[in-house]
Amino acid sequence: MEIRTRFAPSPSGFLHVGGARTALFNYLYAKSNGGKFILRIEDTDQDRSTENSFQIILESMKWLGMNWDEGPEVGGEFGPYKQSQRLDIYKKFTDILLEKKLAYRCFCTTDELEAKKKQSEAMGIPYIYDGLHAGMTDNEIQEKLNKGESYTVRFKVPHKTIIVQDVIQGKVKFETKLIGDFIIVKSDGFPSYNYAVVIDDFLMKISHVIRGVGHLSNTPRQILIGEALDFPIPTFAHVSEIVGTDGKKLSKRAGATSVLAFRDLGYSEECFVNYMALLGWTSEDGVEYLPNSRTSEIFDIERCSKSPSTFDVFKKMKEEEKESVNLTSLTTEELADYLNPKSKLNWLSNKYIRDMDIDVLSERILNFILDSKDIPDEIKQKGNRTLTSILESIRVYLDRLSQAPPYISEFFNNTISIEDDTAREIASRENASVVMKTFFMQIKENQPVSDEDYKKLMDNTGTISGEKGKNLFMPIRVLTTGKAHGLELPILFPLLGKEKLILRMNRIAEELKLSLS
Ligand code: GLU
Repeated sequence: MEIRTRFAPSPSGFLHVGGARTALFNYLYAKSNGGKFILRIEDTDQDRSTENSFQIILESMKWLGMNWDEGPEVGGEFGPYKQSQRLDIYKKFTDILLEKKLAYRCFCTTDELEAKKKQSEAMGIPYIYDGLHAGMTDNEIQEKLNKGESYTVRFKVPHKTIIVQDVIQGKVKFETKLIGDFIIVKSDGFPSYNYAVVIDDFLMKISHVIRGVGHLSNTPRQILIGEALDFPIPTFAHVSEIVGTDGKKLSKRAGATSVLAFRDLGYSEECFVNYMALLGWTSEDGVEYLPNSRTSEIFDIERCSKSPSTFDVFKKMKEEEKESVNLTSLTTEELADYLNPKSKLNWLSNKYIRDMDIDVLSERILNFILDSKDIPDEIKQKGNRTLTSILESIRVYLDRLSQAPPYISEFFNNTISIEDDTAREIASRENASVVMKTFFMQIKENQPVSDEDYKKLMDNTGTISGEKGKNLFMPIRVLTTGKAHGLELPILFPLLGKEKLILRMNRIAEELKLSLS
């Protein structure tokens, strides 16, 4: 049997990490089994579906390299792949179900149903539709139709036990008498999710339905419809929930941001895919860094865990922040402040940046440096020699591609001067001039190359001047950059090299009227 999986998003918002992870598992399962991956747009909720959301979903899928074999834009044998364009298909099946009396028209008005719901609530019992119109005669129905009364179509739920044999969740038992006859066609003529999904999965020959565990409770409804229409039942795999660093279900506040936000933050697509694959799945040998699309060879749905997985990309928010901060509405710069520096994503991302082909890296970095006025235009080209040599020396320090610009621009900054009063004040502190002179001499008399060499010279300066901590590195920072804040010095120094460093120190010393030798 050919493995055919599908991702079936509703276009009512952006693609967040939960949805993208579901898409990925479907994609990987199809690819690791030589199967097909289908993208289907479930836009039957007319009020919530938007064209903009549809476009964002496509853009997100493309960014992550999850190319679909069938679906919007690419077409396929079983299209159209947008549910709103398949209404006549659903109608044919509805006619069969009505004909066989496996479904019926329900003329209850919204007000009537609301009143019944309220009554159940008042009695403290769960609301189950009472099947009021299940037994109407053909004549009664015709009369109402003639009057133009609006109706929904409800599925007549047979009372039985349904056992879902879920690949991840195991055996799950449902009693259908607790479900009640549910709506399969809404009064606007559009099918409900639980109905359209079954017809499409059948017609599109879907072999495996892989989706979030939140949909497990929908599965018995879908099995009932499949059985009524004599469809083969697909294999179900419901993937575990993703929780934030606070251990709670990912919400908008805790990180259910658009996946495109991670692109803008400077994570590469390969790295983000690798990270998402680990949200609920582990490789057989436990290896987590899986470059070169290794996941699409070794992924197996059977190795997915039942327990929730932690999305550790954002820091745990403080109580007071939870109320006021919504991560989905922040700018990229603001969002960066909430990143957890020790996340697995950063660890992976650093590895990807270190190992990336240097031409690819230079191309990716371009997006982040194009607008920078502090970086000369002539190096802003894929494969530019100066750019690649700078990248070679700074890549080990980057967790994100977007962190590169200040390092690159610092390299071209030859006109440094004391930036502000804070920097000036640091330089005038007690013993600061001793520190600065000592460091200058250390550099002058040695031939440092690596960051380790520079660290050693800073340590020597500390020993000689008797200063440590801030009193040691702040004056050195001011002397070499003119600033009170900035890049990590041991990273910056090898980048500049001894000669440039000496030029800079002389310039600042002149401004400070300090004699270095
Ligand atoms: N449209 C549904 C959703 O976005 C699809 C669920 C499914 O995969 O069956 O949640």
